[in-house]
Amino acid sequence: MAADRAPERSAQDAAVRRDLAVRAAVDQGLIGGGDGDEPLVCLLDVAGIRASAAALTAAFATALPAGTPVLHAFAVKAAPLVPVLRLLADAGLGCEVASPGELALARAAGVPPERTVLDSPAKTPAELREALALGIAVNADNAQELARLDALVGSAPTRSPLGLRINPQTGAGAIGALSTATATSKFGFALRDPGMREWLVAAYRDRPWLTRLHVHSGSQGVPLARMAEGVREVHALAGEINAAAGRRQVDTLDIGGGLPVDFTSDAGSPTYAEYVGALRSAVPELFGGAYGLVTEFGRSLLARHGLVITRVEYTKASGGRAIAVTHAGVQLATRTVYVPEAWPLRMLAYDAKGTPKEGPPVVQDVAGPACFAGDLLAAGRALPELSPGDLIVVPDTGAYCFATPYGYNSLPRPAVYGFTADGPAVRFALVREAQGAASIVAEAGGGQRDALL
Ligand SMILES: *Cc1c(COP(=O)(O)O)cnc(C)c1O
Repeated sequence: MAADRAPERSAQDAAVRRDLAVRAAVDQGLIGGGDGDEPLVCLLDVAGIRASAAALTAAFATALPAGTPVLHAFAVKAAPLVPVLRLLADAGLGCEVASPGELALARAAGVPPERTVLDSPAKTPAELREALALGIAVNADNAQELARLDALVGSAPTRSPLGLRINPQTGAGAIGALSTATATSKFGFALRDPGMREWLVAAYRDRPWLTRLHVHSGSQGVPLARMAEGVREVHALAGEINAAAGRRQVDTLDIGGGLPVDFTSDAGSPTYAEYVGALRSAVPELFGGAYGLVTEFGRSLLARHGLVITRVEYTKASGGRAIAVTHAGVQLATRTVYVPEAWPLRMLAYDAKGTPKEGPPVVQDVAGPACFAGDLLAAGRALPELSPGDLIVVPDTGAYCFATPYGYNSLPRPAVYGFTADGPAVRFALVREAQGAASIVAEAGGGQRDALL
């Protein structure tokens, strides 16, 4: 709860740990300031990740009657790294997976089937069969998928808790591509379409093994009250289904993830306690203990705790604009580069020794290494004047950035290290190796060299 009670204090602590980590990364040779070898490295703040997991767990535990079953399933797509999943599992979390690859990662991290949830709009028959054989919870997205579940459930017993994903159609947030609950969203059963409520109630009545309802109505850009509205809709539907069934058939509500992150400061994001507060105002009955809960947070658990450190390789001026050329661009911050208005990132300047850089602000572009003009992490940003060998630190990149790299220009995946600051001493643990040239060649069909001759 500490992180939720004093968000400003914990943001300060995080900024102190960040400065220590940057300095130590230089001192320990993970990144070369000046003209050192390594031009790019990514770090994860282990204490920060643990604090977020603890804040999430505490926010719901304090609001629910003791003994209410709760599973916080981390949305693997936000940071698909096995050691991260393992760390979160150690902190008491499970995994939400949405592809065979993500399921393999969760299993490699040792997350048991009963702590794993499978969503995804395009599950194949083989994926469904495997999930039911393992006992993993599955939320079906549409009527055709439900028909596949009918056949599977009819042919072999399963321990998998099964439910349907509902689109409450409560409306969009500020970012169209991330708005899951619009009238025409591709996800789930569209609750407000004509006849859908009655169809759903009948579908549950006919299938006593459907015991869950799922909604994921939040995401970056969606206000808390609107997220809570989606949960309220699904809670009401569960009441209707159970009334029609004459028993507590739906026993668990999966309320998804989607808590937004403020990318403009260390302190501004809504906390889990605030989200629980918004849920309590919108759906007080959710906390009565009548339903078990599953959550699926991704970005809000990890984004804050990742940072990219990149060396300024060159500086130049073009048409009067100062430009710093770095090694971090579209391959790491894909959304920021392609949709900069929706995904701004802060740029922090450090010198070659890893000390925060002071100086009068100069308007500069921070450019990435890729060969297209738009590969800019920041355009027209006021920063102390940068020189070759300085470092740019990009905070808040722990989710959907370096953990989910993009292969443009065959740029390699950079190394990822976790760090732990013990007083002034910083320890690094390798999480993912830097990708070497042999791996790039192999992934590019190197083994099939003559295939087209
Ligand atoms: C992406 C996703 C999440 C996590 O969303 P965040 O915004 O990262 O918290 C949770 N559930 C489902 C079904 C998702 O697709």
